Amino acid sequence: MAASAYRRILLKLSGEALMGTGPCGIDPEILERLAAEVRGLARAGTQVALVIGGGNLFRGAGLAAHGMDRIVGDQMGMLATVMNALAMQDALDRQGLAARVMSAIAIEQVCEPYERRRAIRHLEAGRIVIFAAGTGNPLFTTDSAASLRAIEIGADLLIKATKVDGVYSSDPLTDPAAVFYPRLSYDQALREGLQVMDATALVLCRDHAMPLWVMNINEPGALARLMRGEAVGSLVTV
Ligand code: UDP
Repeated sequence: MAASAYRRILLKLSGEALMGTGPCGIDPEILERLAAEVRGLARAGTQVALVIGGGNLFRGAGLAAHGMDRIVGDQMGMLATVMNALAMQDALDRQGLAARVMSAIAIEQVCEPYERRRAIRHLEAGRIVIFAAGTGNPLFTTDSAASLRAIEIGADLLIKATKVDGVYSSDPLTDPAAVFYPRLSYDQALREGLQVMDATALVLCRDHAMPLWVMNINEPGALARLMRGEAVGSLVTV
């Protein structure tokens, strides 16, 4: 197995990435495939941390649109990310990897509470760490949680796995004239309102010089190529 170009990474998967073609929930085959990709990275020597969204189950804004209190909706969204994280932990266990879910909301009978130094110890021992419950605060997103945790653990880079090949001027799934950006700055993403991450997450990464790769998780092997140092997707830097 080729050595990895990176020592420690944080991979952000949206909840929708677990959904496959279904309308919601978790597709066991997709989960299996993603866990196998993560195993490949770990076997190549990369320390892997994950943040998984909750959009396949609940989003606070969506629940609020139907009349629910936004903060309660966000709490449900954060708990949804814990469910996805547990499913991924289980899939990683079945791949023969040691994985630990660390939650930003205390649910100690189910998983460990998030503690930075302990998370780093897990990573150094070769365990996969799955950061759950976002930032632990309502009104944030799991993109912001991914940026925050990547900075906290000293990741070499943050990877945002999406359904498209990288960053475009507009949505390539609906606009055939969309232009692909192989490389861009955080300021350009903010100025042009590009679909990369929300502004809070972009500003955090910009202010702490955290490089971000945006890539297509549905392309088998793309993640492994990125880890070998190939340019796969779009690179966002300061
Ligand atoms: N959420 C939150 N605080 C956080 C992270 C997430 O309140 O720090 C809630 C929010 O309601 C969000 C939901 O959890 O909509 C699921 O996260 P997200 O929308 O980021 O998931 P994704 O789109 O990546 O699947």
